[in-house]
Amino acid sequence: MNKLVLLKQYLLSKHIRRFSSRKAIQVYQNKKIKKHLAFVLTHSPFYQNYYQNHQLEWETLPVISKREMMDHFDELNTAGITKKEAFQLAAKAEKTRDFSPKINHVSIGLSSGTSGNRGLFLVSEKESAMWAGEVLAKLLPGSLMDEHKIAFFLRANNNLYESTKSSKISFHFFDLVEDLKTHQKRLHELKPTIIIAPPSMLRMIAEWKGNNLIDITPGKIISVAEVLEDVDKTFIEEIFQQNLHQVYQATEGFLATTCSHGVLHMNEDIIAIQKEYLDKEKGIFVPIITDFTRRTQPLIRYRLNDVLIERKTPCPCGSHFLALERIDGRCDDIFHGIHEQTGKKHMLFPDFIRRAIMLSSDDILEYKVTQKELFLIDIKLKVKNEKSVAEAMVLQELEKLWKENMLVLPKFTFTAYDLMASDRKRKRIENVIVELLVKT
Ligand SMILES: [Zn+2]
Repeated sequence: MNKLVLLKQYLLSKHIRRFSSRKAIQVYQNKKIKKHLAFVLTHSPFYQNYYQNHQLEWETLPVISKREMMDHFDELNTAGITKKEAFQLAAKAEKTRDFSPKINHVSIGLSSGTSGNRGLFLVSEKESAMWAGEVLAKLLPGSLMDEHKIAFFLRANNNLYESTKSSKISFHFFDLVEDLKTHQKRLHELKPTIIIAPPSMLRMIAEWKGNNLIDITPGKIISVAEVLEDVDKTFIEEIFQQNLHQVYQATEGFLATTCSHGVLHMNEDIIAIQKEYLDKEKGIFVPIITDFTRRTQPLIRYRLNDVLIERKTPCPCGSHFLALERIDGRCDDIFHGIHEQTGKKHMLFPDFIRRAIMLSSDDILEYKVTQKELFLIDIKLKVKNEKSVAEAMVLQELEKLWKENMLVLPKFTFTAYDLMASDRKRKRIENVIVELLVKT
C-alpha cells in the first residue's frame, strides 16, 4: 500500500487543487485527458483500434458502454489480465468472502447486475491508493490525524476499502450477507464515528436506534450503493438529528459526493462528465464519463447506465463542480407507457413516479412501485393510518400523471408491503420488464 500516493492525493484534493470557474475545470481536464490519451493509445490495443479513423479530440470520440468494455476486456486493459482469470478470481472471492487475492498486484471488482451482465473492474495498487486519498479528502470530517471508526456495509469487501486503514483510522467491514442481529450487536459495541451503508440498511439502523435497541451517535452518516429516496432520507435524518450525506460510487469510479450543504457534486477533479440529455428542459441526463487517472482499465467516454438530474441553481458552497438535484435511478428503471395518439413508446422517469407518490399523502411511510408489464403497475404502501385512503390518493395521482403525459392508462394493483433490508439492492421504483431494455 502506497501511503505517500494516498497522502499526496488527499492533500491535492483537500487543500491544493482549487478551481475558480467552470472554465478552469475544463482547462485542467483537457490537459489531463490529452496526456492520458497518449498513454492509453500506446498501451491499450482496444482503443488503438477503436479510434483508428477518428480525430483525437476527446470530446467527440466514440462512446463505449459496459457491453463494449466487457466484450473487449482483454485488449482494453493495460495489465494483460484476461476476462477469464479475472472472473475466476472474483467468483472465488464472492464465494469464500475473502476479497484479498489479486492478480499481479491488481484488485478485481465485480459490479452488480443481472447474470451475464456483470462488469469486471481492475484497479492497481497505485490507483487504489489514489482512490483512498480522494475518498478520505472528500468524506472524512476533520483531519487524517483525528481518530475515526468507520463502519462500512457492503455486499462485497474489496481491497480498495481496506487500503484506507491506518493507525488512527480503523475500518470495519459489515458484510450485508450476514444476519441483521449480528450487525445490530457489532454496531452497538463498536460505536462507529462514521457509518457508510445503503439507505435500506441505514433505515434499519435508524429504526434500531429509534427503538433503543442500539446506542450509537455517529458524527457522519453516508448513503451509498442505492438510490436515496426522500422518504428514507427524512426518516434517517430525523432519528440521527443530522444531515445525511451521499456518495455516488460505482465500480466505474468515485463519481460524486455531497458538499457541506448536502448537495451532490460530481468529482470533476478526477473524472470529466458529458451529458446525454433525456429531457433537457428538466435537466435529466445520462452521464458519459472520462476517467483521466485510471490507467489499468482506461474508461474513456464511457456511458453509465444511470439517470441523473442536474441542479438548476448554483450551490451555496461555491464549488464549480457539476451539482446534481438527485440520482434518479438506473436507465433500466425508467417506466414506459404508450402514447394515446401516436401509439409510440414514451418514457416516465422515476422522479415523476416519486413525486406523484409523495404528493398523494403524508401518511406514506414507505413504498415500492414496480412496472411489471407495459400496462401493469404494482404498488406497495406502508402507511400511518387508513391504508385504503392512501391507496385511493396514490391511484388518483398516478392516473393523473399518465393522463398528463397522454399515455394509455395501465392497470394499477396494490399488494402488501413486504420489503426488508437485505443484501439485495433495494429499489423503491423499479421496472422489471426485461424485453423493454433490449428494444429501447
Ligand atoms: Zn455544494
